[in-house]
Amino acid sequence: MDLRLIFLGPPGVGKGTQAKRLAADKGIPHISTGDILRTEVEAHSELGNRAKQYMDDGKLVPDDLVVDMVAKRLVQPDCNRGYLLDGFPRNTAQAAALEGKLAQSANQTDKVLYFSAPDEILIKRLSGRRVCPACGANYHLETMPPKTPGVCDKCGTELIQRPDDSPQTIKNRLEVYKAQTHQLTQQYASAELLVNVDSTGTVDEIADAVARCLEL
Ligand SMILES: [Zn+2]
Repeated sequence: MDLRLIFLGPPGVGKGTQAKRLAADKGIPHISTGDILRTEVEAHSELGNRAKQYMDDGKLVPDDLVVDMVAKRLVQPDCNRGYLLDGFPRNTAQAAALEGKLAQSANQTDKVLYFSAPDEILIKRLSGRRVCPACGANYHLETMPPKTPGVCDKCGTELIQRPDDSPQTIKNRLEVYKAQTHQLTQQYASAELLVNVDSTGTVDEIADAVARCLEL
């Protein structure tokens, strides 16, 4: 069975973890715009070079360029049996542009999974994150604490909380995400592509919910 999937959901909902797991399980590529961008830039492709100019100027890479890269990625041979697009598109304009590009191929999306959990849970998950500023190791106060509180297991450096993970910033990020994606999720719902995945539970529980909604 082909699986052409889009995973959406706010920060902290755990969709990246689920995406990696399902993609590995089903042998389909896990595609994120961050990875595509890095690959294109490293390959010095035409699209990559154009994107790099924006990045070097500290600007966001424009939608049409990102859509071109995603469309190019989705027609690679390893996507023949499906793919898992993680966190893209983020708005209706990107979705329409991508659909237009894919119309020439048979690569239309089968399902859009929207991972959701109450804000309090997302805030708790995100505000517990700690990162090592020296080696980049990730920790979580509740689910993955370091052996010595506040200190990196790998290199002994004092752990920090990224400014992005402070509770007030998290609240803002969640509001922005909802505002950006509201129209998009409505659109996928009308097209009967959208499935809600309750992401309140553990990683295993969420994985079970994913399998159920995909009838795997
Ligand atoms: Zn470290």
